Amino acid sequence: YAALRDFDPEVADVLLSELGRIRSGLQLIASENLSSPEVLTALGSTLSNKYAEGYPGRRYYGGCSEVDKAEELAIERCKTLFDAEHANVQAHSGASANQAVYGAFLKPGEKLLAMSLPHGGHLTHGTKVSFSGKWFDAVHYGVHPDTEDVDYDEIERLAKEERPKLICAGGSAIPRLIDFERIRAIADEVGAVFWVDAAHFIGLVAGKAIPSPVPHADVVTFTTHKVLRGPRSGALVCKEEHAAALDKAVFPMMQGGPQMHTIAAKAVNFKECATPEYAQYARDVITNAQALASGLTEHGMRPTTGGTDTHLALVDLQPVEVTGKDAEARCDAAGIVLNKNAIPNDPQKPGIASGIRVGTACLTTQGMGTEQMATVADLIHKAVTEGDGDPDGTVSREVRAGVTELVEAFPAYPR
Ligand code: PLP
Repeated sequence: YAALRDFDPEVADVLLSELGRIRSGLQLIASENLSSPEVLTALGSTLSNKYAEGYPGRRYYGGCSEVDKAEELAIERCKTLFDAEHANVQAHSGASANQAVYGAFLKPGEKLLAMSLPHGGHLTHGTKVSFSGKWFDAVHYGVHPDTEDVDYDEIERLAKEERPKLICAGGSAIPRLIDFERIRAIADEVGAVFWVDAAHFIGLVAGKAIPSPVPHADVVTFTTHKVLRGPRSGALVCKEEHAAALDKAVFPMMQGGPQMHTIAAKAVNFKECATPEYAQYARDVITNAQALASGLTEHGMRPTTGGTDTHLALVDLQPVEVTGKDAEARCDAAGIVLNKNAIPNDPQKPGIASGIRVGTACLTTQGMGTEQMATVADLIHKAVTEGDGDPDGTVSREVRAGVTELVEAFPAYPR
């Protein structure tokens, strides 16, 4: 860091002030986490220099002996962690891993069935603004109006009517466990490939805190930087029968040279995830999310589906008559970082939204527990219902004092 500070103080300042931002606030974005210094060391390593197109032992470049070792470690650890027949650790991100699924299983114009974005799906699940919706024929299911949970009857009905080649489960705002067996049975009935996008909850699977989709799905894609707590990247595991098609789809169909430093960081992360400490962490993330959801409920906010089984809660703010957009701004002004989020059948436009999404991966990494979640719920409630979005306003200052007390007792990246 000293050399960077001497040569480029502007960028060095950004790195330091970002660390300061992380340390001084409550990070509640459900898709973020605080990866370990060991993961960050691998990310900032000379492996970043190396071109290694291809796979271990069959590269298009010389000099790959050392990076081959890193990728082999990452692949083996990933397979063991998820009890998977095959792993590909080269995807640059979750979206890239998803691209590979389309590349392996669909031709342009062919049909997929996935969760709709406004009900909790992801952009890459066939939305019109994404390659997945522009080049493929996407049909969407949603949540049931009564339960607000995935509507399995709708999946079955649409699968039988539409005969998709690919069925996708998973999304970015699904607080409940997904019934993989049920969707597998539907996919088998209509002869579709079953793909699970486990980006959000794969960390909970790694920690054996929730059931795994791996035995049921043909392919499981994921990001490595959410609850899993690895580097910002992606990966996939699949049945052996699909290994060749998916490997070819990752490289050379969708990507060029793999990021070997990131792959080394994924290897470190998979080793971390195999420890008893990580398993405890995964369980604590869920317990904390449930405590936070019930704290918010006590304050008159409404977690959809009535709560959560995972790391996140999607919270309807209509009962307290505040929009998601205002809530996000008011919390931000008080040092609480979260995002506005559409709730199922949201009357507001996506840019305004009626809800917020909160996740407990970061706070749990910092060592906070259920007692602190009650305080976090109090602080969110005060910021949302009394704040005005002005960082210097009385309420923002009061809430920020509470935030400071918490982050001093449970620091991120302790010195
Ligand atoms: N899939 C799901 C379900 C996600 O939630 C995300 C990101 O949040 C992605 C895919 C895309 O991951 P990335 O941002 O790494 O491309």
